[in-house]
Amino acid sequence: MQSVAARPKTVKPALPASTSTLAVQGQPDPAGAAAADDLSWKQLLAEAVRDAGDLCRMVGLPEAVAKAASEAQGGFPLLVPRGFVGRMEQGNPLDPLLLQVLPQPAEQEPQPGYVADPLAEQGRLAAPGLVQKYEKRALLLAAGGCAVNCRYCFRRSFPYSEAGVSQAGLRQAIAAIAADVSLEEVILSGGDPLLLDDDRLSAVLEQLESIPHLTRLRIHSRLPIVLPERVTERLATRLAASRLTPLVVVHANHAAEIDASVAAAFRRLNAAGVMLLNQSVLLAGVNDSLESLAALSLRLIDCRVMPYYLHLLDRVTGAAHFAVDDARGVELHEALKRRLPGYAVPRLVREIPGEPSKTWISGA
Ligand code: SF4
Repeated sequence: MQSVAARPKTVKPALPASTSTLAVQGQPDPAGAAAADDLSWKQLLAEAVRDAGDLCRMVGLPEAVAKAASEAQGGFPLLVPRGFVGRMEQGNPLDPLLLQVLPQPAEQEPQPGYVADPLAEQGRLAAPGLVQKYEKRALLLAAGGCAVNCRYCFRRSFPYSEAGVSQAGLRQAIAAIAADVSLEEVILSGGDPLLLDDDRLSAVLEQLESIPHLTRLRIHSRLPIVLPERVTERLATRLAASRLTPLVVVHANHAAEIDASVAAAFRRLNAAGVMLLNQSVLLAGVNDSLESLAALSLRLIDCRVMPYYLHLLDRVTGAAHFAVDDARGVELHEALKRRLPGYAVPRLVREIPGEPSKTWISGA
């Protein structure tokens, strides 16, 4: 989610120290378990693909595709974990997972109506990294990086450092949340909040849990999809043990993203008692067919994840080639309602800056 300079950065995390504090109070923490967990996902993140040539070689595409992608990435670099690449179809330049991460020449063509901050979030900062758009809820930008750079991301140009997404900014934002007794729910977003390592995430959770007027904690993360190893049993247990009701909203756009490793990450969260929802973006060439959307919803339901939102694309610079027009979106959604049981149909929504909630284009 995504000018000036900063955007979901290429993240090369430091490998962890030997201990972690993401322990659940009163439960034993076997020595070294936390460090091993951290080592695994941080190592995988450090090994993510950052070069178009490498990505194209891995999926069997010609050098010409890699060259075009390299030239098209502009200030939003290619970044994708190897596990996600492994779910792509070999030799298929139109693979729906590949299209989400491979820079395209069309990104460089200016399109009227497409802007750097399509949701006008930079004008809605109540404190550093704290976006307040909706009643009783606040969005805390807890991290300025992601494990994947999605080419359609509405925050692809978001100036995280200027917006105060930092340790110091986080302290000010949490103080602002504590001072606003109208708030009931905090949404951790980013970037990707699960890129915070266990120590830092635990510190944020403890501070939020100590604020009496909060009742719910929502985490928006694509890590369970692109780097499911981040969802350790320790993480799931810690979230479930919170005094705040925990909800995790994952982000999958296509059924092929949900392989056995992702399903296992969902199981860990489900088994711990964390509620799971999914949000998707309707993307041309990726999931703009009835078959694709129905398969995604059914795969999610079979993994005990509720399809929540299907977003119409936010008009961010560089993403116009992903747009599906509203009429086609409604047509697909109506067909989805006929095809699936009601509980499997996400709400079709658009976010309109200044509106007090998401706008339902077509209800479930
Ligand atoms: S993971 Fe989310 S915030 Fe990060 S680039 Fe993708 S859509 Fe944007």
